[in-house]
Amino acid sequence: MRYCTNCLEPDTRPDTEFDGDGVCLPCRYYRTLDQIDWDERRGALEEISDWAKARNVSGYDCIVPVSGGKDSHRQAVYCRDELGLKPLLVSCAYPPEEQTERGADNIANLIELGFDCVYVSPGPETWRRAMTTGFRKYGNIFKSTELPLYASTPKVAIAYHIPLIIYGENPAIAWGGSGGSKDGDASRLKYSNTLGGGDLSWLQDDGFDAGQLYWYNYPSDDELAQAGLRFIYLGYYLPDFLDFVNGEFAVAHGLVCRTGEDADPEQSGNLQVYDALDCDFLAANQMLKAIKFGFGKVSDQCSVAVRWGKLDRDEAIKLLQKYDGKCAPRYIEQFCRYIGISEEEFWAIAERYRNHDVWVRDGNDWRLRNPVG
Ligand SMILES: [Zn+2]
Repeated sequence: MRYCTNCLEPDTRPDTEFDGDGVCLPCRYYRTLDQIDWDERRGALEEISDWAKARNVSGYDCIVPVSGGKDSHRQAVYCRDELGLKPLLVSCAYPPEEQTERGADNIANLIELGFDCVYVSPGPETWRRAMTTGFRKYGNIFKSTELPLYASTPKVAIAYHIPLIIYGENPAIAWGGSGGSKDGDASRLKYSNTLGGGDLSWLQDDGFDAGQLYWYNYPSDDELAQAGLRFIYLGYYLPDFLDFVNGEFAVAHGLVCRTGEDADPEQSGNLQVYDALDCDFLAANQMLKAIKFGFGKVSDQCSVAVRWGKLDRDEAIKLLQKYDGKCAPRYIEQFCRYIGISEEEFWAIAERYRNHDVWVRDGNDWRLRNPVG
């Protein structure tokens, strides 16, 4: 395990790209920001908006996929108020056992800012069973739910003849993961690491049929081409589409943040109170990510903060060592209760995914073979 020589990004992230000097892709992108002609990008964004308006046959120029969080608030309001677009919001709703109260309040708040929203609610029993399969087969709680989360948007776009889909940040340049492109084009999103081209065979092998998986089935490349759909990352076109900017914007527009124990990074493994608000299984999934790859959410957040000069590298390393991969037992209990397994079974499955190239036994505990710093 190596780390970016500028931020704290590890090279264990799937599809990460380091250069010969050991600098990660987001840091290299960051260094180009002051050479970017932002007026030109804004012009390109306006051209895309005009393209969509000219193709509006449904009453909507574009779809903004939303969870109701900070990025959703910024995207939806920006598209409407800055670009003059008429967006339809599309939200893939979690079952009540997964959706937090604050998540429900936040999506309600966003809609009350004056938007129309289509909710897609895949059947709860399939959702629960598919989540169980993803956890058992991949040690990933969200392996299955990412499928309807992403596939529902182009499905609604095709059904309603809406020409443009506007996502938030490009994960490749924001986090270093795979986004299929390093620019504003989001059309290759389905080939990202999580979506795997929309492959459903791992669920079909477990007995799920096509009817159960309708909302999990990403439209084929032919269907997308036939619909003439265009996909973009808004974040590529704006100099300040950033976690902390979007967080402040959304809070000013009524976003409810985590409070009390849920806001404690020792328990949530998360430094920001305005991030990941709609589902508390996320803390457990970030812990699982740390078991597999040696880093969790705090590592991601620290790398961004160092890159943007919000934290110096030594301070960031201390935060990472203290909080990365932390997850309070109650989040694990909640997940186990939902999918109907014991905590012993949870840990037995989780430990199957322990990456021994990255972790080594230390008494009753595990430690990273090569911790940052
Ligand atoms: Zn870096």
